[in-house]
Amino acid sequence: MKKGRVEVFARTVPQSTTDSVRSATAHYTVARRNTLGRTFDDADDTRTKAAAVKDYVLDNLGPLLEQLEAQCKANGIHVHWAKDAAEANQVIVDICKASAPPGATIVKAKSMATEEIHLNRHLEEAGYHPVETDLGEYVVQIDHDTPSHIVAPIIHKNRKQIAKSFEREGLGPYSEVPEELAMQARSKLRADFMKADIGISGVNFAIAETGRIVLNENEGNNRLSTTAPRVHIALMGIEKILPREADLPVFLRLLASSATGQVLVSYIHMISGPRRADELDGPDQVHLVLLDNNRSGVINGPYREILRCIRCGACLNVCPVYRQATGHAYGTVYSGPLGAVLGPALEGVEKLGDLAKASSLCGACEEVCPVKIPIPSMLLKLRDEAYRAGVIKEPIPWGTYAFGATSAGRWRTGLKLLPMASHLPHPMKWGWSEFREPPEKEGRDFRKWWDENHK
Ligand code: SF4
Repeated sequence: MKKGRVEVFARTVPQSTTDSVRSATAHYTVARRNTLGRTFDDADDTRTKAAAVKDYVLDNLGPLLEQLEAQCKANGIHVHWAKDAAEANQVIVDICKASAPPGATIVKAKSMATEEIHLNRHLEEAGYHPVETDLGEYVVQIDHDTPSHIVAPIIHKNRKQIAKSFEREGLGPYSEVPEELAMQARSKLRADFMKADIGISGVNFAIAETGRIVLNENEGNNRLSTTAPRVHIALMGIEKILPREADLPVFLRLLASSATGQVLVSYIHMISGPRRADELDGPDQVHLVLLDNNRSGVINGPYREILRCIRCGACLNVCPVYRQATGHAYGTVYSGPLGAVLGPALEGVEKLGDLAKASSLCGACEEVCPVKIPIPSMLLKLRDEAYRAGVIKEPIPWGTYAFGATSAGRWRTGLKLLPMASHLPHPMKWGWSEFREPPEKEGRDFRKWWDENHK
């Protein structure tokens, strides 16, 4: 039997990684709950309304995208359409070639869409020098690692590991003091901002009504990436659209509270176009690249609601599988309950259908989702689809179980034989218990106790 990603990683993950993830996700979960409670009179009602707005977007995506394009163009923003990752990379590399010679520095703000299309690799192949400027993404880049959480890319690392990486890269003397580490990164990245010709960002929301791009952040690197260089390129999944300006405030508060437990993030940028004649700062050109990459296929299928996602990461933080296995175990750009649905939906059940197993189906992900995505029921659908496609094999011989469980005599005999089962070859040993010790029997035998005391 093919070993799932989760099983393989759980065997090899160092303990410190799991500790880092558990402590950070627990912190975010508590912060989310506290902030939601004091931010909204009725958080549940707000989530229902936000889900309705996103459903409206999915129902009217074509006209809204056309409206966004027209408004962006009226604002002086160049709009590009990319049907897949290859087209998006080509569009961005072509803009870079028209704007700066090979070898030029490109500063990048955090963007899961750029991770999705593996943009850095394509920029490097074209001869450019992309520099991640989000602190977490910067650590990922210098460590040749990949992000393990959509909001906190280095949630799997601790301070000591970051301090060693900075010392190795010559950013300064070894220090485990967070402020000193931040200052070391700041000095290094400030020089990159000053010399960069091009800045690349993602998009949190784009407003169809006004053609404005909205970016959320806490570090200020987004601001510098989008204003210091002469050219700003923003990459956006087509579902990130909001119909009206009036929709934005509630989404800004839902995103901040669900992601990091903040009422609002430290910086909210509303980009309405390139620098105007009377403005001191800002780029000469702004490009918006609209990425489909099979989102239009997902809209017409059974996993449509996953496109409501606003990438807050709350479902990752509460998921017992994510907390134990950590993000790299999923083997995809998007991890956790979100990734377990979005990955197979975007890339195919044949390729990633086994991710549907990475859930206890406890329902915590749906409970915290700010746009009420029914993740558990979609995971069940995916499991069914993956099973029918032969991607997931039945891990437990349920037919045999049903034969034993539907007769009292057979059940009693089975229980007597059960202690011997751990010494026999067993299908379950091919998966989970291949790498783990099954728990020892504890306490007394319940049936024996019952017979002794109730006869
Ligand atoms: S699925 Fe919901 S909870 Fe998970 S990242 Fe998306 S919006 Fe947040």
